[in-house]
Amino acid sequence: MKAVVVNQASNGVEIVNHEMPTIGHGEALVEVEYCGVCHTDLHVAHGDFGQVPGRILGHEGIGIVKEVGEGVDSLRVGDRVSIAWFFEGCGHCEYCTTGRETLCRSVKNAGYSVDGGMSEYAVVTADYAVKVPEGLDPAQASSITCAGVTTYKAIKEAGAAPGQWIAVYGAGGLGNLAVQYAKKVFNAHVVAIDINSDKLELAKKVGADIVVNGKEVDDVAGYIQEKTGGCHGAIVTAVSKVAFNQAVDSVRAGGTVVAVGLPSEYMELSIVKTVLDGIRVVGSLVGTRKDLEEAFDFGAQGLVVPVVEKVAVDTAPEVFAEMEAGAIQGRKVLDFTK
Ligand SMILES: [Zn+2]
Ligand SMILES: [Zn+2]
Repeated sequence: MKAVVVNQASNGVEIVNHEMPTIGHGEALVEVEYCGVCHTDLHVAHGDFGQVPGRILGHEGIGIVKEVGEGVDSLRVGDRVSIAWFFEGCGHCEYCTTGRETLCRSVKNAGYSVDGGMSEYAVVTADYAVKVPEGLDPAQASSITCAGVTTYKAIKEAGAAPGQWIAVYGAGGLGNLAVQYAKKVFNAHVVAIDINSDKLELAKKVGADIVVNGKEVDDVAGYIQEKTGGCHGAIVTAVSKVAFNQAVDSVRAGGTVVAVGLPSEYMELSIVKTVLDGIRVVGSLVGTRKDLEEAFDFGAQGLVVPVVEKVAVDTAPEVFAEMEAGAIQGRKVLDFTK
C-alpha cells in the first residue's frame, strides 16, 4: 500500500510502497479516505521530537472501518473514524482518569510514536478512535481531527464566554478554525492577527471582527487594547515568539493566554504584569476524545467549516515544502480515495 513516511535521513518525507498492517486484539483496520498535512508532521519529519525514520506520518486521518479485531465492541465495520494525534492513553494514570488524557505520560501519538494516517490503510485502537458523525464531510473532518479540536480545546481553556473578546494569533490552518469556533460556537468577538494579508482576508471571511497585520501595525498589542479594551483570552497558534509576547500584552486583567503553536523558543513574560493583572498562561495540547466528538459535532451542524483543498497523495513532498514556507491557506488534505 502507498504510504507517506519520514525519510531515512529523518529530514523530510518520501512516498513508499509499505507492507499492509495487520490488526490485533482491540484494534480496527481503517481504509483511509483523507489525511490532512499539519505543521506537527513537519516537526516529526525533521526529527524535532526525536528521529523516527520510516514512520508513517499523519494524525488528521479519516477513513472507514474495514475489519475489527477480537474484543472490539465500540466500532463496527463501515463506521467512519478518525486517526488523531492522541492515538491512545494508558487508561489508568492520574491524567487518563481525570479528563486530561492527552497529558498521559505513556501516550501514543499517531504519525510519531506509532504509524499514522498517511497511508491507504491504518490501524487504530478501537476505543480511542472517535467516530465521525453523519453529515460531516470526511475531508473537512480530517481538518477537525487536529486543527479543529486543538483550537476548540484552546478556546475552552481560555474560558471564553459569549460577548467576550478573543484574540487569535496566527490565521493559518489552526487560526482560521480558531476564529470560527470562537465566533460561531462560543459567540465571542474575535481579533485575528497575522503577518500575511491573504490569511487575514480568510479570517475576515470566516468571522473575525477585527484583523490586524503585524507588518502594518507598529504596536499590535496597543492597537488591540485600544480597539477592545483588552481581550479576555488570546489563542496563540503562530509559530513565533513575537506573537506569544504580543498575546500577553493584548489581554486585559484576568485574561488568559493559551499557547498552542510550537516555536522552539522561550516567551518573555513580565512578572509585574502577570502578578498585578492576574494573567494566566496555559499550554493546550490537541483535545480529548470527548473534545473531538464535540468539535466534530459543531462541524456536522455546519457552524464550523474547515477550508480544505484535496490534493493527490503523490504531491506530499511538495505540500510539506509549502508548509515549511508558510504558503498554505487553510489545510491541504491528501486524498486517498483515488
Ligand atoms: Zn496536527
Ligand atoms: Zn494515562
